[in-house]
Amino acid sequence: MPRRLLATVAPKSDLDHAGTVETELFIGGKWVPASSGNRFDVLDPASGEVIASVADGGESDAVAAVDAAAEAGPAWAATPPRVRGEALRRAWELMTERAGELAELISLENGKALVDAKGEVTYAAEFFRWFAEEAVRGAGELATAPSGANRILVTRQPVGVCVLVTPWNFPAAMATRKIGPALAAGCTVVLKPASDTPLTALAMAAILAEAGVPSGVVNVLPSRSSGKVVGRMLKDPRVRKLSFTGSTEVGRLLLAQAAEGVVNTSMELGGNAPFLVFADADLDAAIEGAMIAKMRNGGEACTAANRFYVEAPVAADFSQRLAARMSQLRVGPGTEESTQVGPLVNEDTVAKVDSLVKGALEAGAKAETGGSRPDGAGFYYPPTVLTGVAPDSAILREEIFGPVAPIVTFTGEDEAVRLANDTEYGLVAYVYTGDLARGLRVSEAIEAGMVGLNRGLVSDPAAPFGGVKQSGIGREGGHEGLLEYLESKYIAVNW
Ligand code: NAP
Ligand code: MG
Repeated sequence: MPRRLLATVAPKSDLDHAGTVETELFIGGKWVPASSGNRFDVLDPASGEVIASVADGGESDAVAAVDAAAEAGPAWAATPPRVRGEALRRAWELMTERAGELAELISLENGKALVDAKGEVTYAAEFFRWFAEEAVRGAGELATAPSGANRILVTRQPVGVCVLVTPWNFPAAMATRKIGPALAAGCTVVLKPASDTPLTALAMAAILAEAGVPSGVVNVLPSRSSGKVVGRMLKDPRVRKLSFTGSTEVGRLLLAQAAEGVVNTSMELGGNAPFLVFADADLDAAIEGAMIAKMRNGGEACTAANRFYVEAPVAADFSQRLAARMSQLRVGPGTEESTQVGPLVNEDTVAKVDSLVKGALEAGAKAETGGSRPDGAGFYYPPTVLTGVAPDSAILREEIFGPVAPIVTFTGEDEAVRLANDTEYGLVAYVYTGDLARGLRVSEAIEAGMVGLNRGLVSDPAAPFGGVKQSGIGREGGHEGLLEYLESKYIAVNW
């Protein structure tokens, strides 16, 4: 396992797999135990067995992490952008050199198939490379006031200390997508990773330190009491920014807490992506796109196609072909090379998927493939295709977060758009049609931050990622991702 990831750190655990991964808190450039001495277990989703025990940060550790970030702030903000960028570039190189080891670690603690974990490492590392390049592009503006009386000089300054909270489904990419722009902008951070997947975040911290990021600029605080530690940090007036990726439910709570101190927020929340297939679409391409949009990361993605709307003339053909493809996928432990679909991350997630499918079947849906939870160890759910799904089924309203494709038939463009928009979410939508004008018209009419037009994958570090409605506020990636960590300062100048 990932020996070189943490070459400078002695193993703290004699547990087989995680033996060489650091498992303490990372504060002020040091690996430290929780002040309470508490630890918590990390499980292997393929077996349910314990793979590591990690320091359980509490409120006083959270304060220590903010202390470290605040102390490191001024020097990091004053570090030349090129130098900040070079550290990120080096982190990209290190991640790329160690891609295999990192992918194994992700697969081990998250459960996802190795092929997905490798894809995640490439994607995650690219945020460091992209923001290494963006670090030197924090340009301001200069204008003459309309009155002619003065100049309007706009400069960009780092927001300050940032609290970053990330989910378990992309333990590397959701961290780098926030750390990359924050560091490029000159901010210092405290990262609170998901408690199901803290090991990858700790590995990221080690890589950033090795890449030359100074002590205190990046702090990582695994914790089982996320509500308490994040709440404590949001009360600290030195914390000026919260960037959260996770569920809409928790996002709402955090927005309310951030309101107290008027903390700047970026929110990447849940999704309920529609996947529209018009009768004029290239059906081969639509099936390929559907497999990616549904099955990337085993369906555990906020961008996962959650509702398939297929125009009546092609609905039966599409459903049968999708079911045939889904039924051929090899399900097994994520860490095995031949696996295409790993287990889900934990018991709660598999139980939720199971209950959504049961509800749909009871309301009259038919399982074309899959449709029931297997016996035995591990959090497995089979790739499933449901047809004849009742329009009011919970499975069409809630995020499934698993390998299940519910299919609904529609007639005409207006109905397609109405169905697609009938949700409080608005992260991403997918549209397949052979008519470009229709594709663009429907893309404009859909209430979502992103659209995949004849494409089942939208995520790209060079593009602005984010949602509208209750899927979030703000964008990550692209140039916009950098701006989320910068404040504009306007200086009215006479010269
Ligand atoms: P979650 O339960 O909202 O957790 C996300 C993070 O918030 C975790 O680090 C979690 O810590 C922490 N957290 C939980 N309760 C908290 C509280 N009361 N106060 C402060 N922090 C708290 O989401 P999840 O189940 O990990 O992830 C799945 C969700 O993430 C889905 O809804 C998915 O759509 C969304 N997601 C969105 C995007 C996007 O870009 N829009 C990307 C990926 C995932 P613990 O792990 O300790 O609970
Ligand atoms: Mg949760």
